[in-house]
Amino acid sequence: MKVSVVGVGYVGLVAAACLAEAGNKVVCVDSDEGKIERLKQGVIPIYEPGLTEKVKDNEKTGRLRFTTDLAEGVRDSLIIFLAVGTPSADDGSADISAVLDVAGQIAELMDGYRIIVTKSTVPVGTHKAVSDIISSKTEKPFDYVSNPEFLKEGSAVDDFIKPDRVIIGTKNPAVMELMKQLYSPFMMKKQRILFMDPASAEMTKYAANVMLATRISFMNEISGLCDKFGADVELVRNGIGSDSRIGNAFLFPSVGFGGSCFPKDVRALIYMGDKQDCPMTIALAAQQANHTQQHRFAGRVVEYFSGKTDVRLAVWGLAFKARTDDVRESPAVSCVRRFLEAGFKVKAYDPAAMETAKDVLGDTIEYGQDYDILDGCDGLVILTDWQEFRNPDFQEIADKLKSPVIFDGRNLYDPAYVRKQGFEYFSIGRP
Ligand code: NAD
Repeated sequence: MKVSVVGVGYVGLVAAACLAEAGNKVVCVDSDEGKIERLKQGVIPIYEPGLTEKVKDNEKTGRLRFTTDLAEGVRDSLIIFLAVGTPSADDGSADISAVLDVAGQIAELMDGYRIIVTKSTVPVGTHKAVSDIISSKTEKPFDYVSNPEFLKEGSAVDDFIKPDRVIIGTKNPAVMELMKQLYSPFMMKKQRILFMDPASAEMTKYAANVMLATRISFMNEISGLCDKFGADVELVRNGIGSDSRIGNAFLFPSVGFGGSCFPKDVRALIYMGDKQDCPMTIALAAQQANHTQQHRFAGRVVEYFSGKTDVRLAVWGLAFKARTDDVRESPAVSCVRRFLEAGFKVKAYDPAAMETAKDVLGDTIEYGQDYDILDGCDGLVILTDWQEFRNPDFQEIADKLKSPVIFDGRNLYDPAYVRKQGFEYFSIGRP
């Protein structure tokens, strides 16, 4: 099929590369000229395991091409995916101006029937706003599909190729059939497409993300109470996760959730609820618990060093989670900011997110390699759950730090083992 994807970020580039690999001809359109130029030169602008090969291989075959010219994408495609950003506006709502802007431009460029598909996360009701804009600008026929994306950064390629489910929001049976065809290469084991109306599809995305954020916040609150009672949250996690009604996923206590999706989608759902006079009190509580969790952890580190001057901290992890270079709303970045406010000096290492972190933290901190940054520091703080942090050389850490203390915001280690190595060790919700 002939497809274009507008917005070539974490979602758009992955979707485009995977669709091209399935044999479709895909035009990638982005308004960021620098990004498109780099992609044309084979430079992949984001860190995402398995993506580089897919993009390069499919570009070579000619099935994947990049342009800043939306007209090229609209001219050459039947199906046009919108995967542009929908960041939070100041009032907490999702800013869908890029979606509406692109939809309007597409309408003006259409020379015949097109299917416009939203992959961006958009508030419930956006299907109507997009359809209205398109029909106000063209007489050409079109269909609109809401197709929210559920991939996770860090395993995005795998998630796209082997989705748990694909949600298709349309009422038109012919379009359902076409979308089924488009996704059929990713349904080899079993059919996992769920058809529904566009409003339900839009709502499903928010309900899923806020449910996951709520699980994390709930466990983080439980971890706080474990601290008070001397209980071990990891035992509690196993205890409840083994209940098949609950399951093990998304129960890991941590320094809080972050990233470009959960915080903004929680805010957007709260906003939608307020507007409809139907308060989203659980989402609100999940949001508050998340703030509390970040402050509690960073506050504990600050408190430990109270009264001490010239404190230097080594930080492992800046990305909002492992296997990504994304630092948008990263709890690691907010903790680092808290340390800087307390007057501490920070040296940081992240396997993939050092460059993206420089965009937000600049030269307020130093950057270096994992063990190099430990030299002369008063403690090590772990903020991202990278696999490579899980089994470190504790001897080398102890030798390099001024005093052997670890603050672990991801519960990566067995407390008894780390203490046996001579460390003072603080983690989340464990005695
Ligand atoms: P991103 O910021 O990485 O990418 C968005 C891209 O859109 C950028 O390259 C930007 O230059 C481009 N863009 C913006 N305005 C444009 C315009 N007018 N014309 C052409 N290009 C334009 O964003 P992302 O993380 O890929 O997220 C995209 C959407 O998908 C968001 O709505 C997000 O909530 C949703 N989503 C994201 C994830 C995720 O893990 N990142 C997962 C599921 C859904």
